[in-house]
Amino acid sequence: MRLGERGEAPERAFIDDFHKNVTLPAHARANRPKVIAREEKVGAYLDDSPLTRVEEGKGDVGVITVGMAYSYVREVLPDAPVLKLASSWPLPKETIRAFAKKHKRIIVVEELEPLIEEQLAIMGIEAGGKEFFPRAGELSPEIVRAGFIKAGVIEPPKTKKPAEPEIVPRPPLLCAGCPHISSYMAVRALDARVCGDIGCYTLAAIEPLRAIDTCVAMGASIGNAVGLAKAGTETKPIIATIGDSTFLHSGIPPLIDAVYMKANITVIILDNHITAMTGGQDNAATGVSLRGEPAERVDFAKICKAIGVKWVRETDSYDLGKMYQDIREASEYKGVSVVISNRPCVLDPVRIRGDALEVKQEACVACQSCMNLGCPAISWSDGMYDGHHKVKIDKTLCIGCSLCAQVCPSNAIQAMAGEERQ
Ligand code: SF4
Ligand code: SF4
Repeated sequence: MRLGERGEAPERAFIDDFHKNVTLPAHARANRPKVIAREEKVGAYLDDSPLTRVEEGKGDVGVITVGMAYSYVREVLPDAPVLKLASSWPLPKETIRAFAKKHKRIIVVEELEPLIEEQLAIMGIEAGGKEFFPRAGELSPEIVRAGFIKAGVIEPPKTKKPAEPEIVPRPPLLCAGCPHISSYMAVRALDARVCGDIGCYTLAAIEPLRAIDTCVAMGASIGNAVGLAKAGTETKPIIATIGDSTFLHSGIPPLIDAVYMKANITVIILDNHITAMTGGQDNAATGVSLRGEPAERVDFAKICKAIGVKWVRETDSYDLGKMYQDIREASEYKGVSVVISNRPCVLDPVRIRGDALEVKQEACVACQSCMNLGCPAISWSDGMYDGHHKVKIDKTLCIGCSLCAQVCPSNAIQAMAGEERQ
């Protein structure tokens, strides 16, 4: 990436083209041939563009590839003739035809579906591809090498490579001190049916929280919950969990629908004041514009009430007892209830760092309650109690949210003394 001075783009006025801008059916029909012609023009442009690269090489096998797969092909076959395409669609047909004519055999290496391979078949060019390379999952140099061995292009290695040490799997976790942890602890304690959504909080679906039953698409949590409620077969409380920015993006229409349909559900809006999963972008609820300027902050409670939700409560995510109580009360309400869990993300927009806590080993009874939070700062210590491991806290990770101290039955988790503190 190259950083430079911000350039000013010239202002462009609105182009008053009624037939293009207003897609009435009659206009859309008339525009369709223009779209086809434009595609052909792009294909012809790619024929002449330096983005389409023919790399001469040795041998009869010509490889056609695109994107990341090109790097793997080059690693496995550094001397082979390669046509590197600029895009999977549209194709530079003339360049492809000329390349195919020059080589006895064509092999296409592309990720997932045989899009290019099928286009070549339509063009009357015989090419191999998906019989050697998988249709599922990402490619890698190893997979591409195995494909070329299967295709008979390269020999299998004569000597077996020594076994490489296996990487210990390390599942992703919510961050230490993540404000979403308490909401999911509470819905788990309630034994609720939980419809999740797209965001970093989807990590609550895996162990140890294991607190999400469905996650389908962005904004689908509330609709899923309405569907479950209307099916009428669910005996557990039905809860939808959705992050602040996802709610703004696509959670409001299904909430309107939930109220309109009189669905018996609870919605938890996980407001961590940022769009955390995609890198901490501001949104309409952060009070800051994408240019970093002050902006109006959306008030979630007011939106919910305006939609017609009668039961709305905001709760501090770090107050575990209050969170349990509010979510229980909300789930007992007949109709749509909304809990807004309110705490900023620990990573964005500023890195939050309180004093680390520690586990008094003599007081820990190894009950593992704190482990259930899934906080990455907590791990087993060497100390044992009644055949079970006691726990310890990594002070470099702990941000002092105190959630673990709130669940500890023996008051073993406490603030660090004086110099030990972060
Ligand atoms: S206080 Fe406990 S739960 Fe919070 S970050 Fe530290 S170890 Fe994790
Ligand atoms: S909750 Fe308390 S007693 Fe239980 S394992 Fe954690 S520190 Fe030990």
